[in-house]
Amino acid sequence: MVTAEAVVDLAALRNNLARLKSCQPDSKMVAVVKGNAYGHGSVEVSRALNEWVDSFAVARFEEAVVLRHAGISKPIVLLEGCFDQDETDQAIALNFQPVIQNDEQIAWIRQSLVTEKTNFWLKVDTGMHRLGFSLEEIADKHRELLKLAAVDSFVGFVSHLSCADEQDSSRTDEQLAHFIEATKTLVGPRSLANSAALLTRRDIAFDKARPGIALYGVTPFAGRCGQDEQLEPVMTLKSKLIAVRDHKKGEPVGYGGLWQSQSDTRLGVVAIGYGDGYPRTMPTGTPVLVNGRKVPLVGRVSMDMLTVDLGAQASDRVGDEVILWGKGNPVEPLAERVGTIGYELLIQLTSRVKRTYI
Ligand code: PLP
Repeated sequence: MVTAEAVVDLAALRNNLARLKSCQPDSKMVAVVKGNAYGHGSVEVSRALNEWVDSFAVARFEEAVVLRHAGISKPIVLLEGCFDQDETDQAIALNFQPVIQNDEQIAWIRQSLVTEKTNFWLKVDTGMHRLGFSLEEIADKHRELLKLAAVDSFVGFVSHLSCADEQDSSRTDEQLAHFIEATKTLVGPRSLANSAALLTRRDIAFDKARPGIALYGVTPFAGRCGQDEQLEPVMTLKSKLIAVRDHKKGEPVGYGGLWQSQSDTRLGVVAIGYGDGYPRTMPTGTPVLVNGRKVPLVGRVSMDMLTVDLGAQASDRVGDEVILWGKGNPVEPLAERVGTIGYELLIQLTSRVKRTYI
C-alpha cells in the first residue's frame, strides 16, 4: 500500500511548457530537469517533454548519465560543466553539452583523447558573479574553444540572471545589456532566460530559453502562485489518515506538547513527516486538505507523521486521502511559511515518497 505519494500530472507539465513557449515563440526550450526534475522524477519528466523540447539541462554529470541510460537521446546541457578529466572525456563521448565556466574545463577538453565531438557553451558572467568568464574574456575564450578538436558545430553563450524574479528589473536590464555587448560580434546560439524572464521579459528572447520551476507549475515570484501565471501544479503530494482520535480540550499533542486544543475535537494522524521531506518547521495552522476540506496542521511535524485538527463534527476515517500540497493547496505559500521557496520543498522530497505518473 502506498502511503506518502507524489502524483505527477504529465499533462499539466506539457500544458506549462506550452504556456512558456507562448511567452517566447521564437526561442527553443531547454527543459531544466536537474535535481531529479525538481523532485518530480527526471526520467519520466524528460520522456514526457522529449517531443516538444530542444534539449534538457542538468547540474551534474551523473544526472545526465541517468537520462542517457534511460534512452533520452536529445542534447543534455551540463549547466556547470565537467568537474574533472574523466567527466570531460565521458561527456564528450555521450554527446552532453558542457557549459564551460573556467580555464580548467578548457584544459580538460584540450587534453581529452576521445575522438567524438560535441557542442559546448561558454558561461558569460554578466552580473551573477558566481561562475563564468568576464565580458572582456569572452571573445578570447570563444576563439580558444573553437580551435579544439572536440568541438562539433558550435560554442554557444549562456548567462544566468540573478534577480529576474524581483520587481525591480534594473539588475536584469544590466545583465541583458552585458550579455548583448559581450556576444554581439560572436557567432553561436545564445541563452539567457529562466522561468522568471520567460514569464515577464519579452525582450529576453534569445535562441534558447531555460525554464525550470515554471514547467512544474510553480511561480518563481514571491507572494504569488503558479495559477497567477496560468500555470498548473504538476505535483500533488498526498498521504492518508492512519488514525482518527477523539481529543480532549487542553491535552497536548506530539513532541514537545506544543499545541493544545481549545475545545474537544477529533485529530487526524497523517502518514507523512520530515522523513518524507515535509518540513519539520511547518507551523501549526498550515492548511492541509482532508477529503478536499482545508484543516489546520497542529503540533510538531515528526519524522513519519503529522497531526491535523479535523474538528469535533468530523466524519473522516482511517485511509481517507490527505493532500499536503499541489492541486487545491499551492506549495508556494507553504514554502513562505517556513521561510523558503517552492523549489526547495519540491526538491527535498525523499525517496520514501513514491512518485506516481498520471
Ligand atoms: N539556468 C540555470 C543556469 C539554472 O541554474 C537554473 C536553475 O537554477 C535555470 C536555468 C532554471 O531556473 P528556473 O527554475 O528559475 O526557471
